[in-house]
Amino acid sequence: MKQFVFASRNAHKAKEIADILSRHLEFEFEVLTLDDIGFEGEIVEDGKTFEENALIKAKAAFDKSGIPSFADDSGLEVDALGGAPGIYSARYASIDGKDADDEDNNALLLKNLEGVTDRTGRFVAAVGFIDKDTSFTLRGEVEGYILHEKQGNGGFGYDPLFFCREANCCFGVLPASEKNKISHRARAFTALAEILNKRYK
Ligand code: IMP
Repeated sequence: MKQFVFASRNAHKAKEIADILSRHLEFEFEVLTLDDIGFEGEIVEDGKTFEENALIKAKAAFDKSGIPSFADDSGLEVDALGGAPGIYSARYASIDGKDADDEDNNALLLKNLEGVTDRTGRFVAAVGFIDKDTSFTLRGEVEGYILHEKQGNGGFGYDPLFFCREANCCFGVLPASEKNKISHRARAFTALAEILNKRYK
């Protein structure tokens, strides 16, 4: 059975990603997490782009385990804010550099968009992959715009403020099973699965 390391401690995300991969990979596989490979340190995500950060995390896992590794880095880009919150999405409203509450991040986003009518943006997910022969990154995106107030309380992060054009509905009210078909992460990991099928099948 082919093993991969997903460089994350988020078991929920690891499961979501294993689900996406199991729908697309044409060979037997197992996804390990950082805990499974005994990785104890913190990974410093000091890249300037989603791609750089995804690869930094994947490389840390590969260097420790020698097992082909991947990681993702994601966030929300708002055009009127010059792409912010971008790679700082998780800590947009932070005062100490650590991740902030979703509630505070959403409140700051609404504040910074007060009076702004062009509210277009997108969720972005980059995946970084590395094994002994190669390393590469992939990107998935889903387009939409930022609502003036929250809708629903499903999902996480900025979901309640993000109206997805393709689904014609806010991510805050879209069932997870539907979101997971069209999300930025689903797109990036589907593209990864297609490459892994060519490499390891
Ligand atoms: P990370 O990929 O775990 O680093 O996520 C970065 C941050 O981007 C999250 O904490 C959320 O604030 C935001 N984000 C990423 N993906 C989503 C999503 O699917 N819905 C809502 N917010 C998201």
